[in-house]
Amino acid sequence: MVPGVRLVLLGKQGAGKGTQCVRLSRHYVVPHISTGDMLRAATRSGTDFGNKADEYMRAGELVPDDVMIEVVRHRIDQHDTRGRGFILDGFPRTVAQAEALEKILAPTGLDLVLDLEVATEVVLERLASRRVCSVCQANYGIDSPPRYAGICDHCGGELIQRDDDTEEAIRRRLELYESATAPLIEWYLTRDKLAAVDGLGAPEKVSARLIRAIDNRRHRLGH
Ligand code: AMP
Repeated sequence: MVPGVRLVLLGKQGAGKGTQCVRLSRHYVVPHISTGDMLRAATRSGTDFGNKADEYMRAGELVPDDVMIEVVRHRIDQHDTRGRGFILDGFPRTVAQAEALEKILAPTGLDLVLDLEVATEVVLERLASRRVCSVCQANYGIDSPPRYAGICDHCGGELIQRDDDTEEAIRRRLELYESATAPLIEWYLTRDKLAAVDGLGAPEKVSARLIRAIDNRRHRLGH
């Protein structure tokens, strides 16, 4: 089996992070940790925490750093991630979260941070067409449509639009990406952790580019 990895995937909303993380998580046999999926699961369970998170998500605002850092600290401390590593999707989203992650992972740290690059016009088109399975949360869109319209290929569940894929919330999330998350690219670049990968094209082509970047890095690290 391929050795495990400790990765972060960065990219605008709609860049294809979710789809690529699922593919990478199968390839490297490591858990895909999506903070957005974790928050949506909490919302569905109707806990106080979930209801509060839902308010932030619907408005396209970020959940406060201290809350998110504790959620991720707890998840990364589980048995599966300690063994083989993980792929983080949606975290870190601010420099404060990146700093906290570095402390959580010390002394080993991340292997690599991948920046999935896609132009804003493309992302807007993808977000408008994005559908998610109401049962298993699989993602569909222009580049990866379901075999039958409105029905999940994996489990037959109904495909729906995410509550936060409204025009207003999308605009706010992209604004926040530029102001809060994009500075992370520079932050990781100066720490020699970043690889930029072109996110345009068929999902399998993009996965091949990501795997090449990761394997090059592992080669350099001697893994
Ligand atoms: P995503 O599925 O990654 O687009 O996340 C959906 C929403 O969950 C975001 O718009 C935020 O409201 C919230 N969220 C997810 N991850 C984080 C994070 N690391 N920090 C703050 N808010 C987050």
